[in-house]
Amino acid sequence: MMSMSTSIESMPQPVIALLSQTIAMDHVAAALKIAMPEAQVRFCDINHSREDLGHLADITLAVCWQPPEGLLAQMPNLRLIQSLAAGVDHIVTDPSLPDVPLCRIVDPHMASGMAAYVVWAVTHQHRHMGAYLRNDLEGKWAMEPVTPASQYQVGVAGLGALGLHCAKALAAIGYPVRGWSRTPKNDLPSGVTGYAGEQNLQAFLTGLDALICLLPLTTATEGFLCEKTFTPLAKGAHLINVGRGEQQVEADILAALDQGQLGFATLDVFEQEPLPAEHPFWRHPQVFVSPHIATRTAPAVIAAQTSSNYAAVLQGLPLANSVDISRGY
Ligand code: NAP
Repeated sequence: MMSMSTSIESMPQPVIALLSQTIAMDHVAAALKIAMPEAQVRFCDINHSREDLGHLADITLAVCWQPPEGLLAQMPNLRLIQSLAAGVDHIVTDPSLPDVPLCRIVDPHMASGMAAYVVWAVTHQHRHMGAYLRNDLEGKWAMEPVTPASQYQVGVAGLGALGLHCAKALAAIGYPVRGWSRTPKNDLPSGVTGYAGEQNLQAFLTGLDALICLLPLTTATEGFLCEKTFTPLAKGAHLINVGRGEQQVEADILAALDQGQLGFATLDVFEQEPLPAEHPFWRHPQVFVSPHIATRTAPAVIAAQTSSNYAAVLQGLPLANSVDISRGY
Protein backbone atom coordinates (compact mmCIF):
# COMPACT_ATOMS: atom_id res chain seq x y z
CA MET A 1 0.00 0.00 0.00
CA MET A 2 1.34 3.49 -0.86
CA SER A 3 2.05 5.95 1.94
CA MET A 4 -0.33 8.94 2.18
CA SER A 5 2.38 11.40 1.03
CA THR A 6 3.36 9.30 -2.00
CA SER A 7 -0.21 8.85 -3.12
CA ILE A 8 -1.10 12.52 -2.70
CA GLU A 9 1.96 13.61 -4.67
CA SER A 10 0.84 11.43 -7.54
CA MET A 11 -2.69 12.90 -7.52
CA PRO A 12 -3.67 15.39 -10.22
CA GLN A 13 -3.54 19.05 -9.17
CA PRO A 14 -6.78 19.92 -7.33
CA VAL A 15 -8.88 22.67 -8.88
CA ILE A 16 -10.99 24.33 -6.21
CA ALA A 17 -14.18 26.31 -6.81
CA LEU A 18 -15.11 28.74 -4.03
CA LEU A 19 -18.85 29.21 -4.35
CA SER A 20 -21.16 31.66 -2.63
CA GLN A 21 -24.03 33.87 -3.67
CA THR A 22 -23.83 35.98 -0.53
CA ILE A 23 -20.24 36.48 0.65
CA ALA A 24 -16.73 37.14 -0.68
CA MET A 25 -14.55 34.05 -0.38
CA ASP A 26 -11.08 35.68 -0.37
CA HIS A 27 -10.45 34.79 3.28
CA VAL A 28 -11.00 31.10 2.56
CA ALA A 29 -8.89 31.31 -0.61
CA ALA A 30 -5.94 32.76 1.29
CA ALA A 31 -6.05 29.94 3.85
CA LEU A 32 -6.49 27.26 1.16
CA LYS A 33 -3.45 28.55 -0.71
CA ILE A 34 -1.40 27.85 2.42
CA ALA A 35 -3.00 24.47 3.24
CA MET A 36 -3.07 23.23 -0.40
CA PRO A 37 -0.27 25.11 -2.19
CA GLU A 38 -0.55 22.79 -5.20
CA ALA A 39 -4.21 23.71 -5.77
CA GLN A 40 -5.65 26.13 -8.31
CA VAL A 41 -8.34 28.31 -6.75
CA ARG A 42 -11.23 29.78 -8.74
CA PHE A 43 -14.15 31.85 -7.55
CA CYS A 44 -17.86 32.31 -8.13
CA ASP A 45 -18.81 34.61 -5.26
CA ILE A 46 -20.19 38.11 -4.79
CA ASN A 47 -17.10 39.53 -6.55
CA HIS A 48 -16.84 36.96 -9.35
CA SER A 49 -19.19 35.48 -11.94
CA ARG A 50 -19.62 31.93 -13.21
CA GLU A 51 -17.32 32.74 -16.14
CA ASP A 52 -14.46 33.19 -13.66
CA LEU A 53 -14.68 29.47 -12.90
CA GLY A 54 -13.43 28.61 -16.40
CA HIS A 55 -14.20 25.07 -17.61
CA LEU A 56 -16.45 23.46 -15.03
CA ALA A 57 -15.05 20.04 -15.95
CA ASP A 58 -11.68 21.09 -14.44
CA ILE A 59 -13.16 21.48 -10.96
CA THR A 60 -12.47 18.69 -8.51
CA LEU A 61 -13.33 20.31 -5.17
CA ALA A 62 -16.07 22.82 -4.24
CA VAL A 63 -15.98 24.83 -1.02
CA CYS A 64 -19.39 26.39 -0.45
CA TRP A 65 -21.56 28.82 1.47
CA GLN A 66 -24.94 29.18 -0.25
CA PRO A 67 -23.67 28.11 -3.69
CA PRO A 68 -25.73 29.05 -6.76
CA GLU A 69 -28.40 26.40 -7.29
CA GLY A 70 -27.62 23.91 -10.05
CA LEU A 71 -23.95 24.86 -10.39
CA LEU A 72 -22.48 21.85 -8.56
CA ALA A 73 -24.38 19.51 -10.91
CA GLN A 74 -22.48 21.03 -13.85
CA MET A 75 -19.09 19.88 -12.47
CA PRO A 76 -18.66 16.32 -13.78
CA ASN A 77 -15.29 15.71 -12.11
CA LEU A 78 -16.20 16.96 -8.65
CA ARG A 79 -14.81 14.66 -5.92
CA LEU A 80 -15.82 16.53 -2.76
CA ILE A 81 -18.23 19.27 -1.65
CA GLN A 82 -17.08 20.98 1.54
CA SER A 83 -19.41 23.29 3.48
CA LEU A 84 -17.46 26.09 5.08
CA ALA A 85 -19.92 25.99 8.00
CA ALA A 86 -21.35 23.54 10.53
CA GLY A 87 -24.68 23.59 8.70
CA VAL A 88 -25.32 22.18 5.23
CA ASP A 89 -28.90 23.42 4.68
CA HIS A 90 -27.52 25.98 2.22
CA ILE A 91 -26.22 23.10 0.05
CA VAL A 92 -28.62 20.15 0.47
CA THR A 93 -31.61 22.23 -0.61
CA ASP A 94 -30.21 22.27 -4.16
CA PRO A 95 -32.57 19.87 -5.99
CA SER A 96 -29.83 18.93 -8.47
CA LEU A 97 -27.15 18.24 -5.84
CA PRO A 98 -24.80 15.68 -7.41
CA ASP A 99 -24.01 12.37 -5.72
CA VAL A 100 -20.62 13.51 -4.38
CA PRO A 101 -19.39 13.27 -0.74
CA LEU A 102 -20.42 16.31 1.33
CA CYS A 103 -18.60 17.35 4.51
CA ARG A 104 -19.26 20.05 7.09
CA ILE A 105 -16.99 21.78 9.59
CA VAL A 106 -16.88 20.53 13.17
CA ASP A 107 -14.47 22.62 15.19
CA PRO A 108 -13.92 22.78 18.98
CA HIS A 109 -13.22 26.52 18.72
CA MET A 110 -16.58 26.99 17.01
CA ALA A 111 -18.25 25.03 19.85
CA SER A 112 -16.55 27.13 22.54
CA GLY A 113 -17.48 30.34 20.70
CA MET A 114 -21.11 29.20 20.59
CA ALA A 115 -21.08 28.26 24.28
CA ALA A 116 -19.69 31.71 25.16
CA TYR A 117 -22.51 33.42 23.23
CA VAL A 118 -25.24 31.20 24.69
CA VAL A 119 -23.98 31.43 28.28
CA TRP A 120 -23.76 35.22 27.90
CA ALA A 121 -27.34 35.39 26.56
CA VAL A 122 -28.78 33.17 29.31
CA THR A 123 -26.97 34.89 32.17
CA HIS A 124 -27.64 38.36 30.75
CA GLN A 125 -31.41 37.84 31.07
CA HIS A 126 -31.45 35.59 34.12
CA ARG A 127 -29.28 38.06 36.09
CA HIS A 128 -31.11 41.18 34.76
CA MET A 129 -27.96 42.66 33.22
CA GLY A 130 -30.09 44.85 30.90
CA ALA A 131 -31.46 46.68 33.97
CA TYR A 132 -27.97 47.04 35.44
CA LEU A 133 -26.66 48.49 32.16
CA ARG A 134 -29.46 51.06 32.16
CA ASN A 135 -28.86 51.86 35.86
CA ASP A 136 -25.15 52.25 35.21
CA LEU A 137 -25.84 55.00 32.68
CA GLU A 138 -28.08 56.78 35.20
CA GLY A 139 -25.76 56.37 38.19
CA LYS A 140 -28.48 54.37 39.94
CA TRP A 141 -27.61 51.84 42.70
CA ALA A 142 -30.49 49.32 42.68
CA MET A 143 -30.66 45.57 43.10
CA GLU A 144 -32.76 43.29 40.96
CA PRO A 145 -34.40 40.12 42.36
CA VAL A 146 -32.19 37.02 42.49
CA THR A 147 -33.30 33.61 41.22
CA PRO A 148 -30.77 30.85 41.93
CA ALA A 149 -29.46 29.18 38.78
CA SER A 150 -30.78 25.88 40.16
CA GLN A 151 -34.33 27.27 39.79
CA TYR A 152 -33.90 28.57 36.25
CA GLN A 153 -34.72 25.83 33.75
CA VAL A 154 -32.82 25.97 30.47
CA GLY A 155 -33.51 23.86 27.37
CA VAL A 156 -31.22 23.27 24.41
CA ALA A 157 -33.00 22.05 21.27
CA GLY A 158 -30.32 20.17 19.31
CA LEU A 159 -27.70 18.16 21.19
CA GLY A 160 -25.08 17.94 18.47
CA ALA A 161 -21.52 19.23 18.31
CA LEU A 162 -22.62 22.74 19.32
CA GLY A 163 -25.72 22.10 21.45
CA LEU A 164 -24.05 19.52 23.68
CA HIS A 165 -21.12 21.84 24.36
CA CYS A 166 -23.55 24.64 25.31
CA ALA A 167 -25.56 22.28 27.52
CA LYS A 168 -22.38 21.27 29.39
CA ALA A 169 -21.32 24.89 29.89
CA LEU A 170 -24.76 25.87 31.23
CA ALA A 171 -24.89 22.82 33.54
CA ALA A 172 -21.43 23.74 34.88
CA ILE A 173 -22.89 27.06 36.10
CA GLY A 174 -25.63 25.17 37.93
CA TYR A 175 -28.61 25.56 35.58
CA PRO A 176 -30.78 22.46 35.30
CA VAL A 177 -30.46 21.77 31.57
CA ARG A 178 -32.76 19.78 29.30
CA GLY A 179 -31.59 18.75 25.86
CA TRP A 180 -33.74 17.67 22.93
CA SER A 181 -32.48 15.54 20.07
CA ARG A 182 -33.92 13.37 17.31
CA THR A 183 -32.45 10.16 18.73
CA PRO A 184 -32.04 9.27 22.44
CA LYS A 185 -28.68 9.94 24.17
CA ASN A 186 -27.33 7.60 26.85
CA ASP A 187 -24.18 9.36 27.93
CA LEU A 188 -25.22 12.92 28.71
CA PRO A 189 -23.09 14.89 31.18
CA SER A 190 -24.22 15.47 34.74
CA GLY A 191 -26.88 18.18 34.99
CA VAL A 192 -28.21 17.54 31.47
CA THR A 193 -31.44 15.55 31.00
CA GLY A 194 -32.17 14.20 27.54
CA TYR A 195 -35.48 14.20 25.67
CA ALA A 196 -35.77 12.66 22.22
CA GLY A 197 -38.22 12.86 19.37
CA GLU A 198 -41.57 14.51 18.76
CA GLN A 199 -43.21 12.35 21.44
CA ASN A 200 -41.07 14.02 24.15
CA LEU A 201 -41.14 17.56 22.79
CA GLN A 202 -43.94 18.76 25.06
CA ALA A 203 -42.16 17.44 28.19
CA PHE A 204 -38.93 19.09 27.02
CA LEU A 205 -40.59 22.50 26.51
CA THR A 206 -42.90 22.60 29.53
CA GLY A 207 -41.86 25.26 32.02
CA LEU A 208 -38.55 26.23 30.38
CA ASP A 209 -37.31 29.68 31.45
CA ALA A 210 -34.93 29.82 28.47
CA LEU A 211 -35.14 27.93 25.18
CA ILE A 212 -32.04 27.77 22.98
CA CYS A 213 -32.36 26.60 19.39
CA LEU A 214 -29.33 24.80 18.01
CA LEU A 215 -31.13 22.54 15.57
CA PRO A 216 -29.96 22.12 11.98
CA LEU A 217 -32.37 23.50 9.39
CA THR A 218 -34.29 20.61 7.83
CA THR A 219 -37.86 20.12 6.66
CA ALA A 220 -38.64 18.85 10.19
CA THR A 221 -37.19 21.88 12.00
CA GLU A 222 -38.32 24.69 9.67
CA GLY A 223 -40.77 26.94 11.56
CA PHE A 224 -40.08 25.14 14.87
CA LEU A 225 -39.98 28.41 16.84
CA CYS A 226 -43.67 29.24 16.58
CA GLU A 227 -46.65 29.86 18.85
CA LYS A 228 -47.15 26.11 19.45
CA THR A 229 -43.60 25.83 20.78
CA PHE A 230 -43.82 28.99 22.91
CA THR A 231 -47.12 28.09 24.66
CA PRO A 232 -45.71 25.38 27.01
CA LEU A 233 -42.72 27.53 28.08
CA ALA A 234 -42.76 29.39 31.41
CA LYS A 235 -44.57 32.74 31.13
CA GLY A 236 -42.01 35.39 30.13
CA ALA A 237 -39.47 32.85 28.85
CA HIS A 238 -36.32 33.87 27.01
CA LEU A 239 -35.92 32.61 23.44
CA ILE A 240 -32.40 32.32 22.03
CA ASN A 241 -32.12 31.36 18.37
CA VAL A 242 -28.62 30.60 17.17
CA GLY A 243 -29.70 27.93 14.69
CA ARG A 244 -31.16 29.26 11.44
CA GLY A 245 -33.60 32.06 10.67
CA GLU A 246 -36.02 29.78 8.81
CA GLN A 247 -36.63 27.96 12.10
CA GLN A 248 -38.35 31.03 13.57
CA VAL A 249 -41.82 32.38 12.71
CA GLU A 250 -41.02 36.04 13.23
CA ALA A 251 -44.66 37.19 13.51
CA ASP A 252 -45.22 34.58 16.25
CA ILE A 253 -42.17 35.85 18.18
CA LEU A 254 -43.48 39.42 18.07
CA ALA A 255 -46.99 38.30 19.12
CA ALA A 256 -45.61 36.17 22.00
CA LEU A 257 -43.52 39.16 23.20
CA ASP A 258 -46.60 41.42 23.04
CA GLN A 259 -48.65 38.88 25.01
CA GLY A 260 -45.88 38.35 27.60
CA GLN A 261 -45.55 34.62 26.80
CA LEU A 262 -41.99 35.44 25.76
CA GLY A 263 -40.17 38.00 27.93
CA PHE A 264 -37.16 38.46 25.68
CA ALA A 265 -35.67 37.15 22.43
CA THR A 266 -31.96 36.97 21.64
CA LEU A 267 -31.76 36.38 17.90
CA ASP A 268 -28.61 35.80 15.90
CA VAL A 269 -30.28 34.45 12.74
CA PHE A 270 -33.20 35.68 10.63
CA GLU A 271 -35.56 34.71 7.83
CA GLN A 272 -33.86 37.40 5.75
CA GLU A 273 -30.18 38.24 6.28
CA PRO A 274 -28.99 40.95 6.53
CA LEU A 275 -32.03 41.84 8.66
CA PRO A 276 -33.77 44.70 6.76
CA ALA A 277 -33.34 48.13 8.42
CA GLU A 278 -37.11 48.53 8.82
CA HIS A 279 -37.61 45.17 10.58
CA PRO A 280 -39.43 45.57 13.94
CA PHE A 281 -36.84 43.40 15.72
CA TRP A 282 -34.19 46.12 15.44
CA ARG A 283 -35.72 48.64 17.81
CA HIS A 284 -37.87 46.29 19.88
CA PRO A 285 -36.93 46.78 23.57
CA GLN A 286 -37.27 43.04 24.27
CA VAL A 287 -35.26 41.81 21.29
CA PHE A 288 -31.51 41.67 20.97
CA VAL A 289 -30.29 41.32 17.39
CA SER A 290 -26.82 40.13 16.42
CA PRO A 291 -25.76 39.67 12.79
CA HIS A 292 -25.23 35.87 12.60
CA ILE A 293 -22.01 36.01 14.61
CA ALA A 294 -22.77 33.66 17.51
CA THR A 295 -19.70 31.72 16.47
CA ARG A 296 -17.24 31.60 13.63
CA THR A 297 -14.59 29.24 12.30
CA ALA A 298 -11.13 30.45 11.41
CA PRO A 299 -10.36 30.16 7.66
CA ALA A 300 -7.28 28.09 8.58
CA VAL A 301 -9.56 25.45 10.19
CA ILE A 302 -11.80 25.34 7.09
CA ALA A 303 -8.71 24.98 4.90
CA ALA A 304 -7.15 22.24 7.06
CA GLN A 305 -10.37 20.16 7.17
CA THR A 306 -10.94 20.68 3.43
CA SER A 307 -7.40 19.62 2.62
CA SER A 308 -7.49 16.46 4.74
CA ASN A 309 -10.95 15.47 3.46
CA TYR A 310 -9.82 15.95 -0.13
CA ALA A 311 -6.76 13.75 0.47
CA ALA A 312 -9.01 11.14 2.12
CA VAL A 313 -11.57 11.12 -0.70
CA LEU A 314 -8.86 10.60 -3.31
CA GLN A 315 -7.51 7.66 -1.33
CA GLY A 316 -10.89 6.15 -0.51
CA LEU A 317 -10.39 6.75 3.23
CA PRO A 318 -13.20 7.74 5.63
CA LEU A 319 -14.04 11.45 5.63
CA ALA A 320 -14.24 13.63 8.71
CA ASN A 321 -17.72 15.05 9.39
CA SER A 322 -19.38 13.74 6.27
CA VAL A 323 -23.09 14.44 5.96
CA ASP A 324 -25.90 11.95 5.48
CA ILE A 325 -27.75 13.85 2.75
CA SER A 326 -30.91 11.76 3.17
CA ARG A 327 -31.13 12.92 6.83
CA GLY A 328 -30.60 16.55 5.79
CA TYR A 329 -27.89 17.40 8.37
P1 NAP B 1 -25.24 18.63 14.63
O1 NAP B 1 -23.98 18.16 15.27
O2 NAP B 1 -25.64 18.04 13.33
O3 NAP B 1 -26.41 18.40 15.71
C1 NAP B 1 -27.75 18.59 15.40
C2 NAP B 1 -28.59 18.19 16.61
O4 NAP B 1 -29.96 18.47 16.32
C3 NAP B 1 -28.50 16.68 16.90
O5 NAP B 1 -28.54 16.47 18.30
C4 NAP B 1 -29.77 16.15 16.25
O6 NAP B 1 -30.29 14.96 16.84
C5 NAP B 1 -30.73 17.29 16.51
N1 NAP B 1 -31.87 17.24 15.58
C6 NAP B 1 -31.85 17.27 14.22
N2 NAP B 1 -33.10 17.18 13.73
C7 NAP B 1 -33.92 17.11 14.81
C8 NAP B 1 -35.32 16.98 14.96
N3 NAP B 1 -36.13 16.92 13.91
N4 NAP B 1 -35.81 16.90 16.22
C9 NAP B 1 -35.02 16.94 17.30
N5 NAP B 1 -33.67 17.07 17.23
C10 NAP B 1 -33.14 17.14 15.99
O7 NAP B 1 -25.22 20.21 14.42
P2 NAP B 1 -24.27 21.29 15.13
O8 NAP B 1 -22.88 21.22 14.59
O9 NAP B 1 -24.47 21.20 16.61
O10 NAP B 1 -24.93 22.65 14.57
C11 NAP B 1 -26.31 22.93 14.77
C12 NAP B 1 -26.72 24.11 13.90
O11 NAP B 1 -26.21 25.33 14.44
C13 NAP B 1 -26.16 24.11 12.47
O12 NAP B 1 -26.89 23.23 11.63
C14 NAP B 1 -26.33 25.57 12.07
O13 NAP B 1 -27.60 25.74 11.49
C15 NAP B 1 -26.27 26.31 13.40
N6 NAP B 1 -25.07 27.18 13.50
C16 NAP B 1 -25.25 28.51 13.75
C17 NAP B 1 -24.13 29.34 13.88
C18 NAP B 1 -24.29 30.79 14.22
O14 NAP B 1 -23.28 31.52 14.26
N7 NAP B 1 -25.47 31.27 14.51
C19 NAP B 1 -22.85 28.82 13.74
C20 NAP B 1 -22.71 27.47 13.48
C21 NAP B 1 -23.84 26.64 13.37
P3 NAP B 1 -29.42 13.58 16.81
O15 NAP B 1 -28.29 13.82 17.81
O16 NAP B 1 -30.38 12.58 17.27
O17 NAP B 1 -28.93 13.42 15.40
